[in-house]
Amino acid sequence: MQHLLKSLPKVDTLLAHNELKMFQKSTLLPIIQSHLSLLRENISSNTFSPKELESALNEIIPAIKEKAIKATNPTLTRVINATGVVIHTNLGRSVFSSEILDEITPFLKSYHTLEYDLAKGKRSERYTHTTQILCEMFGCEDALLVNNNAAAVFLILNTFAAHKEVIISRGELVEIGGSFRIPEVMKSASSILCEVGATNKTHLRDYENAINEQSAMIMKVHQSNFKQIGFVKQCHIKEIIHLARKHQLIDYFDLGSGHIGALPLADEPSVREICKYKPSLLSFSGDKLLGAGQVGIIIGKSQLIAQLKNNQLLRALRVDKFSILALQATLKAYQHKEYHKIPTFAMLNSSPKELESKAQNLAERIQRSPIAKKIDIKVLPLHSLAGGGSLPHLSFDSFGLSLQAKYLQTRDFESALRNLGLITCLQGERILLDMRTLLAGDEERIVEILLQVLSQKDDTLPSSH
Ligand SMILES: *Cc1c(COP(=O)(O)O)cnc(C)c1O
Repeated sequence: MQHLLKSLPKVDTLLAHNELKMFQKSTLLPIIQSHLSLLRENISSNTFSPKELESALNEIIPAIKEKAIKATNPTLTRVINATGVVIHTNLGRSVFSSEILDEITPFLKSYHTLEYDLAKGKRSERYTHTTQILCEMFGCEDALLVNNNAAAVFLILNTFAAHKEVIISRGELVEIGGSFRIPEVMKSASSILCEVGATNKTHLRDYENAINEQSAMIMKVHQSNFKQIGFVKQCHIKEIIHLARKHQLIDYFDLGSGHIGALPLADEPSVREICKYKPSLLSFSGDKLLGAGQVGIIIGKSQLIAQLKNNQLLRALRVDKFSILALQATLKAYQHKEYHKIPTFAMLNSSPKELESKAQNLAERIQRSPIAKKIDIKVLPLHSLAGGGSLPHLSFDSFGLSLQAKYLQTRDFESALRNLGLITCLQGERILLDMRTLLAGDEERIVEILLQVLSQKDDTLPSSH
């Protein structure tokens, strides 16, 4: 045994090995150390048969190399979203079209007048580029952009309600995910939460009874990722605006996703409709239903927007030029009804009929491929979701495929697909691919991935991947 331990290569020898020298020492060292110590343990405890031992010794370099490759693989990789959840926060929310990117790339590749007034030769504001189009589209007085909608909520509370009371319905103290909870955000913005009503019902008189000299604002938050049904009542935005005005308070609506009325969305008013009632302030996300980049859009009264601009915090919440350009290009596409330029919109808008023929085509493609015999495929109707905490109650009729591999456990099949970048839904013993969220070129790639996963799989191989 002693001689076996001695025969293990030295750390320095391995570090200098030709096959491993493309890796950084800092990557290799821990891998080599743990690999060698594992081998030592196995040798000392006699776990290996002579044959296993021989192969373990022969495989030291390739094994270390494989671990080093894994450790240095980029973690940010492209994936196919076959979940049917259009605004998938974990998968990057809204996707950009080539058209939008082509419009904004020249600006990114050059200097531009982000904060510069050419006529005056002086500094200007980065917000000016989108103000006009936002005011035209929504009928508001003024607009401001921040890093995201969470930043918008924070900035607005901190500017107008620091150490003052914000009146809000108990049914709207929501948690959005990723540690964004309205009561906590209020605390960090130094606002005092004044919750009114009950979980299921809040009446206008509940708001009115809560108003006192400490009150600064009546806030209404979109419930976003859940929906209450049954014995429920929330006040209409219009009533809240009237009440706030009567008591000279600010009314603020965190619309979450917001929607601009281009999609027929059942039961909530669009941003433009809300603006008709002249709210003090509204905010919503740029990369949810709108389908632009990450940005928080604040619109409302000029005088209030001016106060927001004076808050020192704005600098820390500042929107990047990429987001401004992407928003501008996306809003223009809406104005010109060029919806194909907005993938989020196009996906939400695709008809079950289109999706059914997409599913049929993909099924046929797979059936023509060499792995056809190793898989059961069905075309079936599915229900997609908007996602991104918007429209939890609306399901979009869709179509997709249900897959079952003949010689592979469903869980193993799902994880093998996932490891190659195909994100699916696991439902019982079936893997579901929703066609709604597939992008151009995804079908080819899906067939390639299936080939890769299933081509070596037959009934002689163990089922785990
Ligand atoms: C999503 C959401 C937010 C946060 O918006 P981000 O753009 O993700 O920062 C805030 N409030 C509501 C109601 C939301 O739905």
